Amino acid sequence: MSNVEFYDVVIIGAGPAGSVSAAYLHKQGKKVLVLEKEEFPRFVIGESLLPHCMDHLEETELLDVIKQADFQVKNGATFFLGDKQCSFDFTDHYTDGWKWTWQVKRADFDKLLIDEVEKKGVIVRFRCSVTNVNCSAKNQEVTYVDENGTARLVQANYIIDASGYGRVLPKQFKLDQPSDLEGRGAIFTHVIDKNRQEGDGNNITVHSFRNNTSWIWVIPFADGSTSIGVVSENEHIKELANNNASGFNDFVSNFKGLNGRFLNMEQLFEPKHLLGYSIGVKHMYGDGYVLCGNSTEFLDPIFSSGVTLATASGLLAAKLVNRELNNEKVDWQVEYEDYLKEGIEVFRSYVKAWYSGEFHEIIFAKTIHQEIKRQISSVLAGYVWDKSNPFIKKHKTILKSLAKVTKIKSRQLILKNLLGKILSPNNKSFTVFI
Ligand code: FAD
Repeated sequence: MSNVEFYDVVIIGAGPAGSVSAAYLHKQGKKVLVLEKEEFPRFVIGESLLPHCMDHLEETELLDVIKQADFQVKNGATFFLGDKQCSFDFTDHYTDGWKWTWQVKRADFDKLLIDEVEKKGVIVRFRCSVTNVNCSAKNQEVTYVDENGTARLVQANYIIDASGYGRVLPKQFKLDQPSDLEGRGAIFTHVIDKNRQEGDGNNITVHSFRNNTSWIWVIPFADGSTSIGVVSENEHIKELANNNASGFNDFVSNFKGLNGRFLNMEQLFEPKHLLGYSIGVKHMYGDGYVLCGNSTEFLDPIFSSGVTLATASGLLAAKLVNRELNNEKVDWQVEYEDYLKEGIEVFRSYVKAWYSGEFHEIIFAKTIHQEIKRQISSVLAGYVWDKSNPFIKKHKTILKSLAKVTKIKSRQLILKNLLGKILSPNNKSFTVFI
């Protein structure tokens, strides 16, 4: 055993969660090893960021390198339903925090982050796939297969599982838990966006269809290409993916709300599809290990929360691991799992309200109060732990109640107009009180 390498912390995975964790722990003087299965750059979906992730990049001194890359600035999100539309503007949201972020090709973004982490002095090994982990209160052992196919063993005081969709520890320790969200999938590609109009670039657009169950994302990048994807029930995605994704190509070419923008689009890669990605986890920590990012829970892509939850959890996990390694007492349940779940639960309420139609009811109403919009904007900007925001504090009930009131009001308005027309057929001024 004397030849076995020893680290303070081994991090599994070099996505945003792993990079943020590694950068923080290295800054605290800890000896860190990152093991990453792939060669970077590698493709991963999740391209529209939220302003709150800028806080995590800034705190770990990873923001400057991303700033220099001139990614597409993102100022908000615009939702469409038929001919209705509603835009949320991050430049004027309720919480005191970042007012903008980026839209990024993750291959480039993730590589910049991990390269910067490596430059700082963290040891990063690519094409090294973790195959087994032995955890205990005192000492952790990690087995991985290196780029030559050789099995290797390293030891550590702590393991951070940031393996994303790989879910290394949830699989090994049987921590996976089915999501309470309906099984959905997505099909997507990148295209040369020849028809992009001035101003189309700086937000994500989302087009809802099939009675709130499905939607299209359009995420423009700085290099003139755009990510386009369809999210729907698994069966629908399978249909769109058949015959070399001919269904998907026809669908986005002819989708009314896109006005032919993607007709005869040149694709940068064959459309890829993913099914049933929503998943939960029984525990987020245990003796000698902690899970972060997509290794914990993945909800749904509708509000682009994935990377922000990954950086939030990666940073918090690193802070608590650092404290524990410094012999400070950490209450992992309260300080980690309960805290993270608060933010995840806020997003869960919004995801559910999106698919139930309640969110549609609110945002596509004839009028939406400006302050309500600012408060919802902060949720969409990722500031989901700000309990001074009523749309966070009361997330379980407020959307339902507001949707109900909005529905009643819009019915009253329709009734009022109708009565007005009946009682005053010649368009003479007539007031109806309801
Ligand atoms: P990842 O980015 O997945 O990184 C994990 C790394 O671990 C990978 O590089 C992987 O190779 C490595 N790994 C895996 N197994 C092993 C192993 N055994 N050994 C060593 N390394 C391993 N999020 C957003 O913020 N915005 C969006 O617009 C958005 N859109 C999405 C659309 C869809 C359809 C889906 C499904 C998700 C979307 N997401 C989005 C979510 C986003 O993809 C993830 O939340 C995010 O990538 C999680 O980051 P991470 O660091 O946890 O994991």
